[in-house]
Amino acid sequence: MKELIILGSTGSIGTQALEVARRDGYKVNALAAGSNIKLLEEQAREFKPSLVAVFDENAARELANNLKDTDIKVLSGVEGVCEAATVKGDIVLNAIVGIAGLKPTLAAIEASKDIALANKETLVTGGELVMKAASQKGVKILPVDSEHSAIFQSIQGAPENSIKKILLTASGGPFYKKTREELENVTVKEALNHPNWSMGAKITIDSASLMNKGLEVIEAVHLFGVKAKDIEVLVHRQSIVHSGVELSDGAVIAQLGTPDMRLPIQYALTYPERSNYAFEKLNLFDIGTLTFEKPDIKTFRCLALCIEAINRGGLAPTAVNGANEEAVKLFLDGKIKFLQIADLVEKALEECNNKKEFTIDDIFDADKKARELVRSAI
Ligand code: NAD
Ligand code: MG
Repeated sequence: MKELIILGSTGSIGTQALEVARRDGYKVNALAAGSNIKLLEEQAREFKPSLVAVFDENAARELANNLKDTDIKVLSGVEGVCEAATVKGDIVLNAIVGIAGLKPTLAAIEASKDIALANKETLVTGGELVMKAASQKGVKILPVDSEHSAIFQSIQGAPENSIKKILLTASGGPFYKKTREELENVTVKEALNHPNWSMGAKITIDSASLMNKGLEVIEAVHLFGVKAKDIEVLVHRQSIVHSGVELSDGAVIAQLGTPDMRLPIQYALTYPERSNYAFEKLNLFDIGTLTFEKPDIKTFRCLALCIEAINRGGLAPTAVNGANEEAVKLFLDGKIKFLQIADLVEKALEECNNKKEFTIDDIFDADKKARELVRSAI
């Protein structure tokens, strides 16, 4: 039985990963989160890891005090989270949200651990560095994002270089078919009302703006070694076909299922084996119809901006990601309108001081500049 490390354990993916761990009896050796120490303490008492890391220092101090009666070590800051990524264990499930997941991913690779990766911002910002380090260390990057898991499942057994096209499906989110005029005054509550998936706030807003699909195009470029032009985004309202591939002989292979993240989480943990236990099974008679449409990239510009960013390469995806993270925060706080998210992302892309060759410090520098630009533009 593999031993796990779960980063971002208090979030939507993190709690579902612990549900899988609980059901299948995985040992969990470390947990990490941003600040929600009440839930983290419950998780720590249940799973008895040797180490728990909390990004927020005050929260970490409080948790250390609350866990005094145990021998669980509590660390803080990005260093603490990175250390959690390197304790004894076979696989690190990274479910942190945002670029905050990048350094822990690199720390885990450095410690030769396989990664079950939910944190897409890791690949959007540091894709080149991460894939190179993983290949040098011989560690696997196993996708947890449902579309990428579906693609990964679809290419099991396919010869290398046989992928001709990736078919990346998108639900279309809560604002499907809306016009620019209709989007002008949408509220945070409306944007958080996703039709098919229940997820953390940031990714739910990203789904409403189609930024999420843009980030996923970039994620797929790194994971599967394809060009953005070979990725076709299809709006598929039912969220049953999770994504697929077209192979060199024209065969199209896709993975289908109910919209439930526990399957991709579980597959990343059992790979290459399959669990004997299914969550809710798919009944195609109940679904009846599967539909596919082209996305409206003129209205939902974030998708087009992400494709432009990955085509420019270098630090452009980091600038776009950083601007989006900051803009989404401002939108959730009621400080900007929904359509301003795309405007700010575009501004950051245009003003990005791009470089083809870059280091981890350049990434964090470009991220900081994009965030500052967003804050100063409003
Ligand atoms: P969430 O907001 O529910 O949870 C985020 C977790 O990260 C929390 O545990 C939080 O405490 C932790 N965190 C935040 N900042 C941190 C920091 N600086 N250091 C350490 N931990 C920190 O988010 P989520 O919906 O679970 O998404 C997590 C990641 O998975 C995102 O990258 C998202 O795009 C991706 N993802 C999520 C889903 C989904 O269904 N929720 C699906 C596909 C991909
Ligand atoms: Mg996804």
